[in-house]
Amino acid sequence: MKTIEIEINDLDENARGVGRTDEGKIAFIENAKLGEVVLAKVLKEKKSFIEAIKMETISQSPFLIDNSFKESNLCGAYELYDIDYDKQVEFKKNMIINHIKRIANVDINNIDFEKAKNIYGYRNKVELKLSPEGKLSYFSRNSNQNIEIEKCIMLSDEINKVIDDLRLLIEKYHIPGYDSSSDRGVIKNIIIRSTSLGETMLIIVFKDDFDFTGFYNDIENSKIVDSFYVSKNITRRNFKIKDLVHIYGTKKIKEKLGNQIFFISPKAFMQVNREVSYKIYQDAKKLISSIKPDIILDMYSGISTTSIILSDIAKKIISVEINEDAVNDAKENAKINNANNIEWINKPAEIAVEDINTHSNNMLALFDPPRKGLEENIIDKMALLDINNIVYISCNSSTLARDIKRFNNYGYKLKYIKGYDQFVNTVHVETVCLLSRDRVKNKYFRGSVQ
Ligand code: SAH
Repeated sequence: MKTIEIEINDLDENARGVGRTDEGKIAFIENAKLGEVVLAKVLKEKKSFIEAIKMETISQSPFLIDNSFKESNLCGAYELYDIDYDKQVEFKKNMIINHIKRIANVDINNIDFEKAKNIYGYRNKVELKLSPEGKLSYFSRNSNQNIEIEKCIMLSDEINKVIDDLRLLIEKYHIPGYDSSSDRGVIKNIIIRSTSLGETMLIIVFKDDFDFTGFYNDIENSKIVDSFYVSKNITRRNFKIKDLVHIYGTKKIKEKLGNQIFFISPKAFMQVNREVSYKIYQDAKKLISSIKPDIILDMYSGISTTSIILSDIAKKIISVEINEDAVNDAKENAKINNANNIEWINKPAEIAVEDINTHSNNMLALFDPPRKGLEENIIDKMALLDINNIVYISCNSSTLARDIKRFNNYGYKLKYIKGYDQFVNTVHVETVCLLSRDRVKNKYFRGSVQ
């Protein structure tokens, strides 16, 4: 067995420690913290890199803060929870800069970065499991096992309160969790959401039947949540929500951003950190206002939060979203907020984009895709439609950088970029950027447009 001693001076996107060996190879170390010196067992060695796993700490990270959270006070992978906050920010800023330099090939030295005001208690959604013994837990990818939790310091107070109440009821009725190795058990998954208005939603995914009458009645009578749904999923090792059954309370929960109200149904997406996402929306609005587009193509629009927030600065908004429930929420939300200039396309963005033939001298596209970023045909179509301004909100700076490079090939230049600490205490980061090109009387344009 080969071991190495190494100082961790960076982390990669999967939160592995990164350092350089004496021979100059780059080393990726599982379970290592930013700043510590570790002794690690080599698992794989190639010409230019090494993969290893930490065996012991030789010297502690100088960035450790003195907090006393135990694993049972965390509900998932918060890889930076014990690292000094300013160091977290520096790490994330550098991650964005490095991705843009290395992958997009754009030379930038510094970027704006928005820190979070609340570094704990910021998350409005959690997905928990129930261990086969009936204990609330999360599934750790690192150790491949259920880690029991008491509460989670990152979650809103409302969600932690639901966790406490639910724990007592699960104990009272002796409800077992799901054991994926034997494919036995009752509760597979527990999803709890909250909003800044204090509303809460609970979704329980069952594997099997059980006499739920008392359990449901207790949840309802003690009003532990405002909205309660269940779902049954009997397929082996599949934890997804299938058909939902509404048990009691409101069907949707309400969030407020500025003076606008948004209803959220159980399957619809909402950003997990309200405070930081609201700042992102406001900044994006400022950026877009300065361009004064007449039409905004809002791709990956969820419940149309951005379309609604932007509706007063454009003549028309086209909102594209794959999830039908989210589009239905969006339509209701547009009505309540008097946003009457939005059209919806309920299709995958990569398909919807092919049907878009609207042409205007001043159309802007706003993207907010999931981690895998944009399909290439979407980028091709932007150039073809003569859309010269792109605002891209990204939760993964490496796919963002890849897409910036693809946009560069069509003449778009990176004009502005800013990072946001949306996922505090994790290695993830949100980025907003503006890509523009001078209006080319369109050399890429091959067809006719209306
Ligand atoms: N802009 C919204 C949602 C962003 S999250 C907000 O700020 O709240 C990304 C959204 O993309 C989710 O709503 C998800 O359902 C949707 N989505 C995922 N894949 C998609 C695809 N291929 N085409 C269109 N929408 C997609």
